[in-house]
Amino acid sequence: MTQVSVGMPRLRNDPAQAPTLAGRPDVSELVDRFGRVAHDLRISVTEKCSLRCTYCMPESGLPPIAREDLLTPVEIARLVSIGVRQLGIREVRFTGGEPLMRVDLEQIIGLSAEAAPGIDISITTNGVGLEHRIDRLVAAGLTRVNISLDTVDARHFAELTRRDRLDSVFAGIRAAHAAGLAPLKLNAVMMRSTLDDAPDLLAWAIENSCQLRFIEQMPLDADRNWTRDNLVTAAELLGKLGERFELSEIGRLDPSAPAEEWIVDGGPSTVGIIASVTRPFCENCDRTRITAEGTVRSCLFGDNETDLRPLLRGHADDDEIAQWWRGAMWAKQIGHGMDASDFRPPERSMGAIGG
Ligand code: SAM
Ligand code: SF4
Repeated sequence: MTQVSVGMPRLRNDPAQAPTLAGRPDVSELVDRFGRVAHDLRISVTEKCSLRCTYCMPESGLPPIAREDLLTPVEIARLVSIGVRQLGIREVRFTGGEPLMRVDLEQIIGLSAEAAPGIDISITTNGVGLEHRIDRLVAAGLTRVNISLDTVDARHFAELTRRDRLDSVFAGIRAAHAAGLAPLKLNAVMMRSTLDDAPDLLAWAIENSCQLRFIEQMPLDADRNWTRDNLVTAAELLGKLGERFELSEIGRLDPSAPAEEWIVDGGPSTVGIIASVTRPFCENCDRTRITAEGTVRSCLFGDNETDLRPLLRGHADDDEIAQWWRGAMWAKQIGHGMDASDFRPPERSMGAIGG
């Protein structure tokens, strides 16, 4: 085991040893010891980003991953194929860092769509520069896009993201609509500096036919400034939105959906809140993650990772890789553990894991 810093993985496995599967039922899917089954695959494709959101990245960006350590489009598509054909994966989302920083994102999506026909392939993006690539991405096989937008106030956006790029995000949202990617979902992290902007953001989302979801800030910032005392909770946000809108609770649309939904002003518009900290949904989590370097991460908050890259680049066949992946997920921890007195944030920040 090597010394680690934020952005560097700690690897659990030694490719010479078999994965630990003791007690695991002999099923193909990605089950864990607590009865959960992962169907939703998140693959990070880069640590690079065009923004520097304070809740995620350090001002100087993450330590760069050497080119040869990043998974290639062919390797990514092979993992997608293994996930879908052997492990019960039903949807694939590319994230980062900022996925648009990969110049070969079209190829990643195209090869993945070929490897798993009929599967939903989406990206989570900050939207910067999306307008210039959306048509090629859709032609390659992109079926959905989630765009992160925390405020529609240009000054607050620039302060929060440390970049003055709000107009580019707006252009990306317009372009995604024009490309027919509906429903367009917007993600907004709830921060104290932008709390007063939340009603304007919701009004903007409704006017622009976007489905907005607010997310409680998790202790996954590279700068380690998160404190529970400064957290904007779902309850506080609801109070703020309630000053302008009439909200009626619907709840979760399906049990594995992290967002709880509210009808806005009698409908049809809704707003979602992902209360990851105050109302965690760990018991229904159905995610499995692959980092940009090819490690399986079973939980955002679990530092143990299982490295598939040596297997992909060695002589392992798909069955062997699938079995390692199953072993990684079998070891998934019960939850994020934020309420425990000995809780420590994970070594990797959100941008280094892939949100
Ligand atoms: N760059 C892309 C983007 O921003 O959409 C994709 C990667 S980003 C890490 C994925 C999602 O994680 C974004 O919606 C972002 O707002 C969210 N995120 C980042 N840091 C977070 C944190 N500390 N707590 C909660 N959500 C966070
Ligand atoms: Fe970049 Fe997304 Fe992290 Fe913001 S949240 S710094 S856009 S990776």
